[in-house]
Amino acid sequence: MPENPDQLIRDLLRGRLSSLEIERLQRQDKDAGRARQILRLEQERLGWSDPILLCLQEHLYVVEQADGSRVVRCDCGQEFGDYRRNWKEAALVHERDGSDGEVHRGPRIADPGWSILREFYCPGCAAQLDVEVVPRAYPFIFNFQPDFADRPEAEEAERSGL
Ligand SMILES: [Zn+2]
Repeated sequence: MPENPDQLIRDLLRGRLSSLEIERLQRQDKDAGRARQILRLEQERLGWSDPILLCLQEHLYVVEQADGSRVVRCDCGQEFGDYRRNWKEAALVHERDGSDGEVHRGPRIADPGWSILREFYCPGCAAQLDVEVVPRAYPFIFNFQPDFADRPEAEEAERSGL
């Protein structure tokens, strides 16, 4: 399957496609080059000299700095530290009652005696990065730790780092 045009993928990433266009992309055969294409387009868009290794989630990327360290960085430039640590530890956190009716309503409403709703924001740009509903005092959920072990430079960093 050939790559889709760069502009189409840019529009996809920026949320500018209609649901019909998104559905058409979803029904295509898997595009083996899509991940590389997205990394290239995001690198161009952000203009960072540090290479993006992975788009972690909306707004967040794992980048490799000149000294070889790999950090989680927001698209505004705010850094959250080593990618092997939970970026949420460096985010702004707003905890609120999940039963306020803004997220859950009706019979599925959260019991405030048992759960808390946490919102995570970037300290640099105030973008909302994640929301989790968890039991009170539950640790921050570590969504995803990328495995760069198939890359020799990652193994070197693993030995010298954390
Ligand atoms: Zn930010």
